[in-house]
Amino acid sequence: MSRREELRRRILKYILLRGKATRPELLEYTGIRAATVFEAIDALKTTGLLVEPGRRSKRTGRKAPDLAVHPTAGYWLGIDFRTGGSVGVITDAVGDVLFREELSCARKNLNDCRLEIGELVRRLRRTAGKEWELVSGIGFADPGVVDMSRAVSRKAVNVPGWENAATGEWLEGEFHRPVGIWPETMIKTRMEYMLRMPDPPESIFLLSLEDGVGGGFIRRGELFVGSSGCGMEIGHLVIDPAGPMCKCGNRGCVEALVGAEGIRGKLREALASGMATVLDPENFSVPDFIAAVPSDKAARIIADQVCRNIGEALAAVVTLLNPSMIVFSGELCKLNEVLLSGVRRVLELHCFAGALQDLKLELARSDQYDTARGAALRMRDKLWLGE
Ligand SMILES: [Zn+2]
Repeated sequence: MSRREELRRRILKYILLRGKATRPELLEYTGIRAATVFEAIDALKTTGLLVEPGRRSKRTGRKAPDLAVHPTAGYWLGIDFRTGGSVGVITDAVGDVLFREELSCARKNLNDCRLEIGELVRRLRRTAGKEWELVSGIGFADPGVVDMSRAVSRKAVNVPGWENAATGEWLEGEFHRPVGIWPETMIKTRMEYMLRMPDPPESIFLLSLEDGVGGGFIRRGELFVGSSGCGMEIGHLVIDPAGPMCKCGNRGCVEALVGAEGIRGKLREALASGMATVLDPENFSVPDFIAAVPSDKAARIIADQVCRNIGEALAAVVTLLNPSMIVFSGELCKLNEVLLSGVRRVLELHCFAGALQDLKLELARSDQYDTARGAALRMRDKLWLGE
């Protein structure tokens, strides 16, 4: 890549992550002389990827207008394939959602999963009508481990049959668009970073607390994924070697302790020790558990144990990565302050004070469509930036 191309790419990447930027901001960011930067900006405007509303002359004396992505420079389809159903969106190039669909079917094997995903995309195609032609690519957020370079879904322990599936190749064959697939935690981490613009923290570690437990780490806009894309698998960090069996085959992983099954196990133990509770382990759901915490002593004790388990795992994260923010997403987030203060107490016991001094703990800001939206935007960036 030539120097000019590299500069254009850097500027475009900066704007894609933030949604917009001014010329003075880009001068400061690149640290290169103005004429060179402005030449790169004008080249990007000529390609139709960027717009600069209101810019007329060099000396208007007004506040610098924002450079932004051209909304119709391409539409993107994003799919959030979850353990309990699928969410799909079509966004414009800025990332605003134009069309959305949700679907959940009974799934016993890979074929059922594909029927659900295929029907979701066909519904979006029908709703979009003529605008479907503008869709330039499909981004897919996968619930499990992914081979990103080959667009293969390696395995999701919580989805029956979702194993060694050539998801990218299959979607491309069905819908004739380029496809990229990424682990959902990676997409969510990037979205939490983007949702904190214009002043994002230096780094974020995301802990996703759904049925499965996952993690993601982003620093200055760059995700860290490990050399084979398997980094940040905090759900399978062993914190109690004598603990319950995990779906991965090990004992005492974070997921086995604080996932729905782990909480149900703690409830059984509480009952066996003679504790009274309104909860029934045979008819159990995480929302019921969370609703019981304020008034049910056993539920409150279990919530404290869950926070301890999570805190112990995060102590390793804080010690190794020293993030400036930890964001919690997923069902257990509804524990709110119980979760935030419970985890902070454990971190204070286990970590250096210096690593906690500026550490913020926050709940996720994303809504139910943001992972699908994030997958769409990730695909835009893959095609536009070649990464
Ligand atoms: Zn495990």
